[in-house]
Amino acid sequence: MNKLSLGENMEGRYADVIIDISHEKVDRVFQYRIPDALKGKVNIGTPVTIPFGRGNTRRQGYIVGISDEAQWEESKIKEILEVPEKQLSIESRLIELAGWMKEHYGSTMIAALKTVTPVKEKVKKVGRKKTATEDVESVGEEMTGDVSAESSVDVQQLSGAQQTTEIIAGKPETEHEADRFELNSEQKEIVENFCDDFETGVRGKYLLHGVTGSGKTEVYIELVKEVVRCGKTAIVLIPEISLTLQTVERFEAAFGGRISIINSRLSKGEKYTEFERARKGETDLIIGPRSALFAPFSNLGLIIIDEEHDTAYKSETTPKYHARETAMKRAELEGASVVLGSATPSIESYYRALSGEYKLWSLPDRVMGRALATTSIVDLREELKSGNRSIISRELAARMEQAFDAGEQVMLFINRRGYSSFVSCRSCGHVIKCPKCDVTLALHGNHKLMCHYCGYQAEMPDKCPSCSSKLIGGYGTGTEKVEAAVKSIFPNIRTLRMDKDTTTRKDSHQRIINSFKRHKADCLIGTQMIVKGHDFGNVTVVGIVLADLSLFDNDYTSAERTFDLLTQAAGRAGRGDKPGYVVIQTYQPEHYTISSAAQQDYNSFFRQEISYRRLMKYPPASHMLGILITSKDEELADRLSAEVAKKVRELLSDEKGAVITGPGPAYIGRINESYRRVIYARDEKYDKLTMAIDKVDGIFAKLSSETDAEIQFDMDPMNVV
Ligand code: ADP
Ligand code: ZN
Ligand code: ZN
Repeated sequence: MNKLSLGENMEGRYADVIIDISHEKVDRVFQYRIPDALKGKVNIGTPVTIPFGRGNTRRQGYIVGISDEAQWEESKIKEILEVPEKQLSIESRLIELAGWMKEHYGSTMIAALKTVTPVKEKVKKVGRKKTATEDVESVGEEMTGDVSAESSVDVQQLSGAQQTTEIIAGKPETEHEADRFELNSEQKEIVENFCDDFETGVRGKYLLHGVTGSGKTEVYIELVKEVVRCGKTAIVLIPEISLTLQTVERFEAAFGGRISIINSRLSKGEKYTEFERARKGETDLIIGPRSALFAPFSNLGLIIIDEEHDTAYKSETTPKYHARETAMKRAELEGASVVLGSATPSIESYYRALSGEYKLWSLPDRVMGRALATTSIVDLREELKSGNRSIISRELAARMEQAFDAGEQVMLFINRRGYSSFVSCRSCGHVIKCPKCDVTLALHGNHKLMCHYCGYQAEMPDKCPSCSSKLIGGYGTGTEKVEAAVKSIFPNIRTLRMDKDTTTRKDSHQRIINSFKRHKADCLIGTQMIVKGHDFGNVTVVGIVLADLSLFDNDYTSAERTFDLLTQAAGRAGRGDKPGYVVIQTYQPEHYTISSAAQQDYNSFFRQEISYRRLMKYPPASHMLGILITSKDEELADRLSAEVAKKVRELLSDEKGAVITGPGPAYIGRINESYRRVIYARDEKYDKLTMAIDKVDGIFAKLSSETDAEIQFDMDPMNVV
């Protein structure tokens, strides 16, 4: 599969060894000679006994790299003493996993190790401080291998999660096991299928496709119970924004104290403590976002990834790993099963399930015969033709009125990632941009302009900087505009807005959610922040103000994300006993994403989307490697990206099938005065692309030495860069 061939023994004369992987400075790597007797018998992750320091004390370490080049004077390199005869420890397997991540995602070994290893709390040392330099001095002739500049470790590396959950706020009331309902026959069948496999030693990969409210979480709980009964442990990943108190309580009711819950607000030390409990066997289950995947359970039996399609599973910092892929690898190394679950599976996972790679389970109906909401599409072009200039269509207004009259609540949803409104001149069309980045400045409140990429701030000008006209102002369908439209139709209705402006203060997100839950407002207006996780029993109408907004994001996954957002939004309506209505407003009623989302028909969406991907050679029908080259020197960025593109073409395109585009400016061509150029290579063969990463990386290092230029690789990126 890749150059490193993990799992096989590697040839090489020298090994890079780390002594203590939970130490803050995992970048203290020491080079040792591999004795002849061990050549070809050691690998990344192999534990070794080595002589350390002036006194040559025997210490335990792990191999994190193997090479043929001495990085120190040959005579000064010490030899590995032995490979201790004991079972491969959990550290070994995590280091092996880090080795895979390094190769697969094109990062350094150090960055990969820091991702899989939580570090101990940084303790402020009082008095005499032993520095890293002293460590090096004390070992005298040993060298420090890959000393990277990244000195602080962000163990969490979590998504920019909002304040969502009031998790671990005191002991929740646990339901009694006996009061619990019985699984329905569809749920039972899935659980039995899993148990049959698990008990006969089959470790499988499964995709659970179940509509919201179909009882997936209940199935997860039963699967974990089975695994624990068999003496194994489990990891359950849930995107932070979806991890509600309600879900936590259900797991706690089932597993009591033998459970850990982590979130991005835990300190490094707190997270370390939870991971230690896993290592010591004090817990059977850990629940958390992406990084919970690296919990050091030594007897892992199952990894569950809920909402597996969620983009929060892809790390945006190096190594840019995807939790789903990495979970598959970890499960393979540890002999564990993997269950993916979603109401709107990623195109990739569904594709794999249909091809037989994953076993497909489905729960097509909500439990207890609860109905999905009734959905209708409003064509905004027709609305305009008949003279309605409001952002709220007549049909949506009528549904809202009915709900308000019945004392029910309404959610209006603006289909974009964030809230931003740009400033332009109505006289000359001038748009105010960031002086350092190729993006428009967003208007915050009435007077502040801000760049979301570099943080640049400016005052809102009172006249156009280009033509001096006073007709300058903020545009874009924002939450404020929608709120104003609601107020003009329903002057007595209490509205709440949730957007970047109203959630800047800590916990304001939660406060808005809570006050809407307590019916302190009739209508909640927001961006996608309001879509996930929350259950509002009294919401009967959901309006999607402009469904098209995320559809043409200049990104091959935009249809998939739009379908997910629309389905999630629709899932907010009619969660209680009352029926729900969803009104989707759009200029593209015939687009397959909109029509299949309106019918809540995932299969129809999938069929059309996959044929588009096949046609265009996009993942998962093909693989795609994104290469990003950055420099503050525009000419250098251009020259280097041209050289890299030439090399990529030499390496790949002579073979039939590879498609290479670029170099060209990235989606955002400049961020913080750094020019960004991209090259994309698409090919069915994964290995061919990973092989190219290595070669290109080497060439780039030579071409760019002594410059500020940097290169980044992104395999099967979820967004274009
Ligand atoms: P999902 O995870 O698919 O959204 P949940 O597991 O959260 O679905 O189930 C939705 C609701 O239905 C929850 O309140 C859950 O307690 C309840 N539920 C799940 N399975 C059953 C069942 N077999 N009988 C009755 N209620 C159920
Ligand atoms: Zn102007
Ligand atoms: Zn900027």
